[in-house]
Amino acid sequence: MRLSSRKLLGLMKRSLTPNNPYHAQWLLTRRCNYRCKGCTVWRESQNQKELSTEEIKNGLDILEKLGVVEIVLSGGNPLIRDDIAEIIDYASQRFITTVYDNGSMAVKKIDALRNADFVAISLDTLNEEKNDYIKGVSGSWKKAMEAIEILQKEGINVGVSPTISQLNLDEIIDFTKYFIYNGIPVWYCLYWYDYPSGNRLFQIGKKQTEFEITDRKTMVKVCDALIEMKKKRNGIFITNKTLEALKQFFLNGQRTWKCKALRSFLMVDHLGNVAGCHLQEPVASIFDLPDVWNSHRLKNLREKFSQCNQCAYLCYIFYSLHSNVLSNLEILQDQWKNAKSLMSRA
Ligand code: SF4
Ligand code: SF4
Repeated sequence: MRLSSRKLLGLMKRSLTPNNPYHAQWLLTRRCNYRCKGCTVWRESQNQKELSTEEIKNGLDILEKLGVVEIVLSGGNPLIRDDIAEIIDYASQRFITTVYDNGSMAVKKIDALRNADFVAISLDTLNEEKNDYIKGVSGSWKKAMEAIEILQKEGINVGVSPTISQLNLDEIIDFTKYFIYNGIPVWYCLYWYDYPSGNRLFQIGKKQTEFEITDRKTMVKVCDALIEMKKKRNGIFITNKTLEALKQFFLNGQRTWKCKALRSFLMVDHLGNVAGCHLQEPVASIFDLPDVWNSHRLKNLREKFSQCNQCAYLCYIFYSLHSNVLSNLEILQDQWKNAKSLMSRA
């Protein structure tokens, strides 16, 4: 973890300033070398234009001014970019920076990843055959497991990121135990899919019936079990508030959160277009921020999004639940044991 005093002070100041968009995801590229079943990204043209290194750095400066605290660099596979080392280096001097990899490129780009605060390797199950089926690439499980082991040995804050779906729901607790007992934190995604829409920022999730969580009771038990495990063990990177919200959602369809898209979080695509979430149409170019952020147009959109219930992507639920100064402190309180162990390694 990279913690200079400039970064620490900046993070504290921005976390304690009300009404900032604390969370940003930057989908740096649409290119990807995997063929995941529940994903639409690889099904589209891979020869798309992207921002230059300097444009991305400029955009990161703008996000800092806007008050962003933590950023997720994803794609496609962000490690495909030749300049990823420079981008991670620049981002991690300003934000808590997480970089996603499907497990195929982290070892090759290990030096670039040394500056990231967290590296999330997506892996869905301990069952090799099933994982390869989900990823659409034979050998993906082995590569991901090797990457996790090598990054951990190299002292990089690597974690594993399963997408919880009907296909692995029964295994999530054993999966979590396996990794946290081996000192590897786990942070979760939840299977969801994009609804049909004409003009969105980005298409990611594909409807895939076998992935849809139909066993709601087991999902609730998983949430309860994770809450219990968190009392005794480090390494489970999901807040109780999020787990409780998920429980209610799966028990009775109740949303205990209001979406905070374009309020506490925003998305940026490979061309620098900004939207509240990837399912909404772009509202500005990143280079129009921060001026446009307080416009009436965006204020009206925030109101509209707060009524939206079109998706249940876990990251958006988390960002919506943790959307003000108090809830930033709640994250720290909830994740204090994990934060302490990470800071001791900084
Ligand atoms: S889910 Fe991620 S790793 Fe898999 S194909 Fe889509 S962008 Fe690539
Ligand atoms: S609920 Fe929020 S994150 Fe989901 S589609 Fe609507 S605006 Fe986007």
